[in-house]
Amino acid sequence: MSDTGEPAIELPDEDRCAFCDYLTGRRPYTVLWRENRVATLVTREQRGIAHLLILPVEHVPSLLHLPDEDAERMMIAVRDAGLTIDGAYERPGIAVWQNNGVAAHQAIPHLHFHVAGTLPSGGTDFGTVPELPVEETDAIARRLAPFVPDRRSSQRRLDTRFDNTAT
Ligand SMILES: [Zn+2]
Repeated sequence: MSDTGEPAIELPDEDRCAFCDYLTGRRPYTVLWRENRVATLVTREQRGIAHLLILPVEHVPSLLHLPDEDAERMMIAVRDAGLTIDGAYERPGIAVWQNNGVAAHQAIPHLHFHVAGTLPSGGTDFGTVPELPVEETDAIARRLAPFVPDRRSSQRRLDTRFDNTAT
């Protein structure tokens, strides 16, 4: 913590926040579900089977900046992302990780949790992975969608493109 009360971690520089652009639809990306305060994306850099990102809808730079009132919702969504992957892909392990500050390999200055099912070789891939086209992350979302837990309390709703029950 610095003299100003701000965390001392060094956040990555970014003129525009990519995650805010994805959430507003300014740039195409696969949003699996949205809630009042939280959204879950299918990342184009799949490091597991499958690999999701859970983030606050409002711009929050890191975990150290997360307001108390959003912490519970975030962790419920992280758990439910794990349950969703478990239901759809039945992997033997589910990894959860989260990075704060450039030195901790945070690449985008908007808080996000990674949740990923393990690979056939075990663990997840922290090397170079291909950037999948959105059509492929949409296909992953279609497979995951039937397994997303229903949470009316947080007004969770699947993206209409993946919601087979929508009329
Ligand atoms: Zn943002």
